[in-house]
Amino acid sequence: RAKSDGRGTYQFYKPEMDDRLQRRRMLELDLRAADFDKEFELAFQPIINLQSKAVTAVEALLRWPGCQRGHVTPDEFIPIAESTGLIVQLGAWVLEGACRQAMSLPGKVNVAVNLSPSQFRRGNIVDTVSTVLAMTGLPAERLELEITESLLLDDSKETLLALNRLHALGVLISLDDFGTGYSSLSYLRNFPVDKVKIDRSFIAEIAGNRDHMAIVSAIVNLAHALEITTIAEGVETEEQLLIVRATGCDAVQGHFFSAPKPAAQIRKYLEKPHDRLTLA
Ligand code: C2E
Ligand code: MG
Ligand code: MG
Ligand code: MG
Repeated sequence: RAKSDGRGTYQFYKPEMDDRLQRRRMLELDLRAADFDKEFELAFQPIINLQSKAVTAVEALLRWPGCQRGHVTPDEFIPIAESTGLIVQLGAWVLEGACRQAMSLPGKVNVAVNLSPSQFRRGNIVDTVSTVLAMTGLPAERLELEITESLLLDDSKETLLALNRLHALGVLISLDDFGTGYSSLSYLRNFPVDKVKIDRSFIAEIAGNRDHMAIVSAIVNLAHALEITTIAEGVETEEQLLIVRATGCDAVQGHFFSAPKPAAQIRKYLEKPHDRLTLA
C-alpha cells in the first residue's frame, strides 16, 4: 500500500506510520476521557528580569503525568487537544490553575499562560479569561497571555477584537517563539503586543553564530523602539546569558536558571532565591 502525500508523489508504506497513527488515536481517546484534575499538572518556569535580577514571572507549562500510555510531551498532546477542540476545556483548566497558583505564590509574580489559536476560534477566550480573573481574584495586570504568530497570520477581525478586549481588561500579551514564523513587523504594530519572546533556536546558537546574535540584537532594538519588552527563551549557559544581556534584552528564561518545576518547588525557588540569580 502506498499513500499519496498530496503532491502527486508516493511514499512507500511504512509500518511506523500506522504505529504513530494508532498512538495518536489512543491519546485522543485518553484525552477525551481524562479527568483533568486527576491526570494533569502544571509546571512553572521562572522568568528573570536582567535589570532587577529577580523573578518577575513564571510560565505555566502543562504536563500529563497521569497519561496511561507513558511519557507524553506537550508537543505531542497539545496538537491533539487542538485538532479535537478539547483544548478549549483544557486551556480553561490551565488558565484557572495558573491564576490560582499565582495568587498563592510569594513575591506577587506574574503568570504567563500559553494560548492556542483554537481557544480564540472555537471558544470565547475573552469570557473565559475574565471569568477566571474574577473567580481567582488575580489582578489582570499579573496575567500574561502567550500567543503565537500563527494566530495573527490570518489577520481576522475577530482575533484583533478579542486581543484588544483582553488588553483592555489589563492583561499583557506576549508573542511567543518570535522569529520562527513570518515575524512580520506589522504584527508588532497592528496587534496589542506587550512582549516578545525570542525563540530558543536563536539562543541555542547565539554563542557560536554571529548571525544569530545580530538577529537577537535587531529584534531587541526593534521591540524597544515600539515599547515592547523582550524575553530570551532557552538560556542554558552562562555564555548565552552574557551575550543575551549584551544585546539589551530585558529578561531571560531557561534551564540555566531553572527547568519548569511543580508549584511546590517553584514556591521554594521564590522564597529562597537561587544563587545563580546573582549572575543575571
Ligand atoms: P513554549 O511556550 O515556547 O514553552 C517553552 C518550552 O521550552 C517548554 O517546553 C520548556 O520546558 C522549554 N524550555 C525552557 N527552557 C529551556 C531550555 O533552557 N532548554 C530547552 N531545551 N528547553 C527549554 P514544554 O514544556 O515541553 O512545552 C512545549 C510547548 O508546548 C510550549 O512551548 C507551548 O507551545 C506548548 N504548551 C505547553 N503548555 C501549554 C498549555 O498549557 N497550553 C498550550 N496551548 N500550549 C502549551
Ligand atoms: Mg510559551
Ligand atoms: Mg516559546
Ligand atoms: Mg516553543
